[in-house]
Amino acid sequence: MGHKARLIILGRQGAGKGTQCALLGSRLGIPHVSTGDVLRAEVAAGSPLGDEVSSYLRTGSLVPDSLMLDLVAHRLGDPETGAAGFLLDGFPRTLAQGKALFDVLGPDAVDLAVEIYVPAHVVRPRLAARRVCVRCGAVTALSPGDPATTPCPDCGGQVTRRDDDNDRAIERRLALYDEQIGPLLVWLDSRGVLATIDGVGDPETVHQRILEAVGGASPELVDDGAGLGRMRRLA
Ligand code: AMP
Repeated sequence: MGHKARLIILGRQGAGKGTQCALLGSRLGIPHVSTGDVLRAEVAAGSPLGDEVSSYLRTGSLVPDSLMLDLVAHRLGDPETGAAGFLLDGFPRTLAQGKALFDVLGPDAVDLAVEIYVPAHVVRPRLAARRVCVRCGAVTALSPGDPATTPCPDCGGQVTRRDDDNDRAIERRLALYDEQIGPLLVWLDSRGVLATIDGVGDPETVHQRILEAVGGASPELVDDGAGLGRMRRLA
């Protein structure tokens, strides 16, 4: 195939997409494009786009498709970016976005969409415990009984909750996910590019499941010589 992996990573909020994209990005040498991260950075920078989307983010509502499509087309439409591969996290979220993505990138633009399946009752407590370091940006989890002032384990900085990790926005985001994801999954499956993996387990176990799914779809995408075959033998 001669190109780097072009993957869509799907899953409920709190399913571990960010963690898995970080592992996959360094394993496969491809950039992680999180639409949520891009939008949060725009809001933090106070850009015109940030001002336009901040209320959607705060309430856990979906940003209108027209804005999202511009943003993603700009980031991925460039043939050079396409050749570097990508890990698309947070987009597409709806059937309309999925169809638009293939319209922009072409019918073979994505090697695989991986759905990291974690039930809602497992992600709720994860989202309630999730903290982000204001200094280094690390995403961590408060353990039961930890005081809210517990510092970042990586750099000692102050940690905070994401604006949309409040109970109301969490429920809204999870409900929207459930509402929108079914038709998108059915459509991706009909195109032969969907793999669903069990997302419950420690991050390294889930990472191995994703690599197996990607390798099952296109072995050359994960087999770089020192690759998956060797990792399987060592396991
Ligand atoms: P995330 O970090 O993926 O949970 O995204 C955070 C927020 O960004 C979402 O709750 C939406 O407000 C917005 N957002 C991110 N990606 C999309 C998308 N593909 N379509 C619409 N809104 C999005």
